[in-house]
Amino acid sequence: MKKITFLALLGILALGVEPLYALPPVKVAATVGPSHGNVSVTIPPKAVEVAPNVFSLGTAFDSASDALVEGYAIVHKKKGFAKGNSARGPGATSCYGFLAKGSKWKTVEPWVVNPANPSGLSHDFVFSTLGSGIAKWEDVTDGVVNGSGQNVLGNGATTSAVLVADMASPDNLNEVYFDALEDGTIGVTIVWGIFGGPVRERKLVEWDQIYNTLYQWSATGEVDKMDFNNIATHELGHSVGLADLYSGSCLNETMYGYADYGEVNKRDLNSGDIAGMNSLY
Ligand SMILES: [Zn+2]
Repeated sequence: MKKITFLALLGILALGVEPLYALPPVKVAATVGPSHGNVSVTIPPKAVEVAPNVFSLGTAFDSASDALVEGYAIVHKKKGFAKGNSARGPGATSCYGFLAKGSKWKTVEPWVVNPANPSGLSHDFVFSTLGSGIAKWEDVTDGVVNGSGQNVLGNGATTSAVLVADMASPDNLNEVYFDALEDGTIGVTIVWGIFGGPVRERKLVEWDQIYNTLYQWSATGEVDKMDFNNIATHELGHSVGLADLYSGSCLNETMYGYADYGEVNKRDLNSGDIAGMNSLY
């Protein structure tokens, strides 16, 4: 551990790591803790909230890419769980933002989902919705819907194995599953990568995703449930490197930071989402 910590410090000194959105890190204790007894996945208490609902997980060595990488957990909140009026992010004028400029996928890796869920969504539906969600983002790397996209997140597979989202260090698996998160959190996407230093050397190396079993999930936009297609399309935007938007003028973007029951308008990408993907890739 000492060695990694020392290396991490060296990495920060050498790279001049920039926090997300180029905001200085704000030293606030993570407030995404368990709110009741049955929460099984929480953001580590030492994680620092560096932007609204974005928690730094620190630095770790990624053996697969032989590099020091940083991790972030991006929490998707239900409407009504805003922390005052301080929520701001990129996109006031452009309606898209990056986790960090240049931090994108440069290699294609497979992903795996354990589709088991208590809402009765079929395993085929969960798998195919994630696949079609990824395809929506990949399709617009050229800025055109139904144009010539590029492979960004690779092929998926299902598993019945217990998956674990990696909040301490990456494990070279891109994992998706359902689990109990705190009330108000719809889902969380964790990304590992290089977000500081020279832009050309930045990249993403891992993504994991958890959908909160505290909520009921729907395949058809039912009014009292979270629409899986709607939420997954948003979360997958983080997997490819896009940031949340909190400007009221970006309400219609898939990457808008809040969602609610029965919402389906984020199933399709909006003009800012498309422009952002085109710009990043
Ligand atoms: Zn989000």
